[in-house]
Amino acid sequence: MTKRIDLHTHSTASDGVLSPAEVVRLAHQEGVGTIALTDHDTVDGLEEARQEAERLSMRFVPGVELSVTWGKKTIHIVSLAPKELGPYRCYAKRIWQQRDARARKMGAKFEALGIYNMYESALELAGNPLNLSRRHFAMALHQRGTVGSEDEAFARYLRDDGPAFVKTEWSSLSDAMRLIEETGGIAVLAHPGRYRFPEPYSIQDLLEDFRALGGEVIEVTTGSHCPSENESFIRVAVNMGFAASTGSDYHGHRPGRPGPGQQEQLPTYLTTVLDLIDKRNNQ
Ligand code: AMP
Ligand code: MN
Ligand code: MN
Ligand code: MN
Repeated sequence: MTKRIDLHTHSTASDGVLSPAEVVRLAHQEGVGTIALTDHDTVDGLEEARQEAERLSMRFVPGVELSVTWGKKTIHIVSLAPKELGPYRCYAKRIWQQRDARARKMGAKFEALGIYNMYESALELAGNPLNLSRRHFAMALHQRGTVGSEDEAFARYLRDDGPAFVKTEWSSLSDAMRLIEETGGIAVLAHPGRYRFPEPYSIQDLLEDFRALGGEVIEVTTGSHCPSENESFIRVAVNMGFAASTGSDYHGHRPGRPGPGQQEQLPTYLTTVLDLIDKRNNQ
């Protein structure tokens, strides 16, 4: 049986619930042969994950998922297989400051809603207290019983423009693409089916901007898409000539979401990001 591929996963280095080694171990149990760890705005989990993958004779692809502001919204660009990690540590320092400042403001918004000490509760759940995510707030609200699920926490408080949302200007798309290029990584537009832009921005403009800045790969099958979105981005990859990536976007067990490597795999007729990485390594 061919081994499964998962090029998008999260650990406690960002907003996942398992340690880097645990994510890799679970993926191995689930029949994954090739795995990338792609935590938000950090490369800190990569060494632990790489060692575990090596121990289990899996192929490991280092990665990082960058927060980018485009079209007045947050989008995500995954850098896969960068040769140099140092520049991501400098980048992370800046983003973590923004994340911490945002989290404090979110805490203040929750206070105003009569929900107290949320910043402190979110901090307690974060593997890296500097890399605080909205998801840590969702986890804290769920644990307290304020909401029945993390999804409900987003729907009621944390969604874009929700009552606890604090707008943040992350990197520009061109800065993120430059960082990826400088470090020898391959840029992947993550879960393109998930974005909703205000007029006059559109997903088509994003795809074209991404390509104009050197982007060659889009994620087509992902745990963050529904099946019809997978279908439509397979067609986009074919029609616009993008190579394809695939990943579960696993953060921990969540009902209705795939475990590591359990997302729909790529159709064999597409050029994959692994093909591009292999070609680059053989040059
Ligand atoms: P942040 O990068 O801190 O703004 O947090 C965004 C993270 O929250 C994403 O990476 C997802 O893990 C999670 N997330 C975003 N929207 C939702 C949602 N509607 N339901 C559950 N989790 C979500
Ligand atoms: Mn996340
Ligand atoms: Mn993402
Ligand atoms: Mn992700």
